[in-house]
Amino acid sequence: MSSDLKRRAARILKALRKQYPDAHCELDFTTPLELAIGCILSAQCTDKRVNQVTPALFKKYTTAQDWASADPSELEREIHSTGFFRNKTRNIIALGQALVEQFEGAIPNDFDALVKLPGIGRKTANVIMVSAFDQPGIVVDTHMKRLANRMGFTKQQHPDKIEFDLQRVIPRAAWGEFSHVMVFHGRRCCHARNPDCAQCVIAQDCPSCQIKQGSKLDLSD
Ligand code: SF4
Repeated sequence: MSSDLKRRAARILKALRKQYPDAHCELDFTTPLELAIGCILSAQCTDKRVNQVTPALFKKYTTAQDWASADPSELEREIHSTGFFRNKTRNIIALGQALVEQFEGAIPNDFDALVKLPGIGRKTANVIMVSAFDQPGIVVDTHMKRLANRMGFTKQQHPDKIEFDLQRVIPRAAWGEFSHVMVFHGRRCCHARNPDCAQCVIAQDCPSCQIKQGSKLDLSD
């Protein structure tokens, strides 16, 4: 990994940190368990929609045992508006059961244990490590995937490979903060279809900047 790339990444992180000092996970939660459920619900769904559904859910289901013993058809109805509700219901109930059986009902503060749980892949495990446990983690969602490619930090399309490329460019202590500011920047400026390069605070450091002559931007998501 070239030191030029690391220096450019450091400048980008510094500029985005200044631009989004309050960048954070936009799912509403108060416990690691609530965050895990919110992450499962957020697949193919907006955080805004998930945040509309979770207040009533989190009032009704407060422990892993509550989720483990949920009535599937009732839960399907309650999360219907988030899409893929059958699959999500299966995963949520299986997660509750696994937590009760293996971790006394608690979400483990351990990445390797998290990724073995039902419904939890590397992305969700990293979200939980970063936002519930304040541990390092790089979250590769659709925004990170797009921005990391546009900024030239990776040429990969698979989220795991993007994560490993970013781990080599960004200092471990900044992984969580980097994840937050990149998602904020993707949502507020570097949009999939119409990136606002003219207003972008890292335009000078971005190889995909549209306002630079001769540059080409891949607008695929
Ligand atoms: S310059 Fe344009 S493409 Fe590059 S990060 Fe900014 S908005 Fe995205």
